[in-house]
Amino acid sequence: MSVSLSDLKTGLSKLGLTKNLVIAHASLKAFGLIDGGAEAMLNALLDSTRGIIMPTFTYKSMLNPEVGPPRNGITYGSEADLNKLAEAYHPDVPVDKLMGVLPEILRKYPKAKRSLHPIQSFAGIRADGIIGSQRMYDPLAPIGSLADQDGWVLLLGVDHTVNTSIHYAEKLAGRLQFIRWALLQDRVVECPGFPGDSDGFNVIAPALEKHTRRVKIGNATVQAIHLKSLFKVVVDQIKENPFALLCQRPDCERCTAVRWS
Ligand SMILES: [Zn+2]
Repeated sequence: MSVSLSDLKTGLSKLGLTKNLVIAHASLKAFGLIDGGAEAMLNALLDSTRGIIMPTFTYKSMLNPEVGPPRNGITYGSEADLNKLAEAYHPDVPVDKLMGVLPEILRKYPKAKRSLHPIQSFAGIRADGIIGSQRMYDPLAPIGSLADQDGWVLLLGVDHTVNTSIHYAEKLAGRLQFIRWALLQDRVVECPGFPGDSDGFNVIAPALEKHTRRVKIGNATVQAIHLKSLFKVVVDQIKENPFALLCQRPDCERCTAVRWS
């Protein structure tokens, strides 16, 4: 059986977020067949929240230089072939496919506003101030602004490995951030504040349980997590254990760089 717009609205309304702004991450496939697809999901989200932002990242504008600063979680010069495929950033560049289909639908929505970061842009609806808070030196600032307004994270059929807000909390905890580079039409720009790796983030789930609301819609579980509470849980865990939330892959360059920082 497919999931209808009304199923989505009914399910999402149970989260009690009509007066709150949210940052959403979604896998539509996790729900099963949705009548009306991504547009229906976006409509249901707008119906059940005060406003919504999503990451609209564009990794294809990234370049890997031959040399650069040390302890940067990167092997310089290792992607010379990929550099040739890099596409210059412009404000209308589509969202990377690996972000899912929903952020691209949101970006193209008539009233959406998108920030201008060449790698880590965000788009939002009814959240212009939040989107406008981003800076080149503070790419995840919209997540901080969202928390200041009592925002929530929505994980729609996805887990914490895509929960970008955990990266914001890592920075709050003083964890090492990285530098990356992006190709613009006429030059290359340095992009500080690039976060670490998220493969190890699911271990946070039990500690977030008391700040999490949950509903099942179709085949998917939807979780809502209070953003400020999430920050506190992550910061406390990193203060207690500087290696908390890092992944176990021995070849992970960013987690390795954090361990040695
Ligand atoms: Zn890692």
